[in-house]
Amino acid sequence: MMDMQPILARALRQETLSKTDIVSLLSIPEPAPLFDAADQVRRKFVGDEVYLRALIEFSNYCKNDCLYCGIRRSNAAAQRYRLTPQGIIQTAQKAVGLGYKTVVLQSGEDVWFDTDKLCHIIREIKKLGAAVTLSIGEKTREEYAAYRQAGADRYLLRLETADEALYEKLDPAMSWDNRVRCLYDLKELGYEVGSGSLVGLPNQTLESLADDLIFFKNLPVDMAGIGPFIPHPQTPLAAESTQGHFELSLKMMAVMRLLLPDINIPATTAMETLHPRGRLLALACGANVVMPNATEGSARIKYELYPGKICTGEAPEQCRACIQRKIESIGRTVNFSYGFHGDFLKGK
Ligand code: SF4
Repeated sequence: MMDMQPILARALRQETLSKTDIVSLLSIPEPAPLFDAADQVRRKFVGDEVYLRALIEFSNYCKNDCLYCGIRRSNAAAQRYRLTPQGIIQTAQKAVGLGYKTVVLQSGEDVWFDTDKLCHIIREIKKLGAAVTLSIGEKTREEYAAYRQAGADRYLLRLETADEALYEKLDPAMSWDNRVRCLYDLKELGYEVGSGSLVGLPNQTLESLADDLIFFKNLPVDMAGIGPFIPHPQTPLAAESTQGHFELSLKMMAVMRLLLPDINIPATTAMETLHPRGRLLALACGANVVMPNATEGSARIKYELYPGKICTGEAPEQCRACIQRKIESIGRTVNFSYGFHGDFLKGK
């Protein structure tokens, strides 16, 4: 078995890791030393505090048909919903009342929300004193510029995979080049850019996961989320397995922390679908952000990208209190500031 210690020692000194090094780390059979190294780097570069972001899933309409996604256009069994602009603003008001400093507005690619509607929503939420993160998919550069002008601070757009052929096989009618164009436009427009990968896709290799990480380092991203692929029964990938996806996702998160020491890395909700302590384990492997669901009522269950989503029956205030308890149970604390990229080191 290959000795990982020299690679980890170089990572801890923030030396550049090659693609071969990254693949070696992702294939490590006993990952405890990798997780420990990521935890050390996390503590040094982003501290022990965990940033909370209020997630508002405001529409599950989507014009796209990604094969892995439960709200893809062709899923006739999905119960569609769309909050009104006023409903979104009110939900954001409640989230701010619960102490959140960031509101993440997430939806499928829903064309009903045109630029005017979205800019109005962004401006109203900014008046509440919250940072606004958008996670609404691929748009034109002009649209991204308009949202930014309206006050949007951050944008999440997962790359999903750096394997162009795999991406285009799984996202019919979408183009990998356009995805990359979006990420570079967002960066140039001054957003804090979040990206990320789906881990465990059919035919995805460790080499292509290493390419994902190298892509994030080169952009560079300000945030990156890793989601284990969990097949949805109403999609063409229903029969795929989730075997190994949880641990591989933890490894991806840990290597990402080593490569990009000061970025924000969320402990994603999907991790907790695969493991009852999924988010806490992710926080121990490099993550420093949690995005509790602040959406109200039945929308929580209808926004079903993958099956078995947690906390669909809870109210936003329950989620808020629950996650704080969980974070404190592992000796970490909640940070109530905006939590922009690099804030921890600036405050030192
Ligand atoms: S992954 Fe995103 S773009 Fe693709 S179908 Fe689902 S919501 Fe739409």
